[in-house]
Amino acid sequence: MSSDRSMWPYTFVRPGGFHFEISVPVWLIMQRFQQSEMHMAEAGGVLLGRHLRDGSAIIVDDITTPLSGDRRARVRFFRAQRRHQAIIDEAWRTSNGTCTYLGEWHTHPEPIPTPSAVDWTDWQRRLISDQYSEPIFFVIVGTKHTSAWEGRRDGGIVPLSLIQR
Ligand SMILES: [Zn+2]
Repeated sequence: MSSDRSMWPYTFVRPGGFHFEISVPVWLIMQRFQQSEMHMAEAGGVLLGRHLRDGSAIIVDDITTPLSGDRRARVRFFRAQRRHQAIIDEAWRTSNGTCTYLGEWHTHPEPIPTPSAVDWTDWQRRLISDQYSEPIFFVIVGTKHTSAWEGRRDGGIVPLSLIQR
């Protein structure tokens, strides 16, 4: 990533042309967990943010990062659901219901991240079991690229394309 890149939100185009945006502060946090060194474990957490009222964009304003109770390995990340849920609930309360659960993120030790079989299974399960307003997003932070997918309650998951600046 060039230093210029970090000055922009990480913006993807959704089906229908609307945007899914990872804000600069969140992108800076994600970069700290990029598995650029062999010894670094997978990291991840939940995405928190808002739907712009005019519908033009859904913006990630905050994320959770690995918490105690999470188990981290080079190619696996297990989230301690209850602690992350407490943060989601707190964000909802303190924002008067504007800051909401938007999905999940985790890192992969590969330049261009591809979802693993475990990721697909996990995502499908979340689409059915998680509480959210459609859609939810799945972000994988690779060592060079970051990719995002959008999921719907009917089980459909589509990759989003990054807007190049
Ligand atoms: Zn994965």
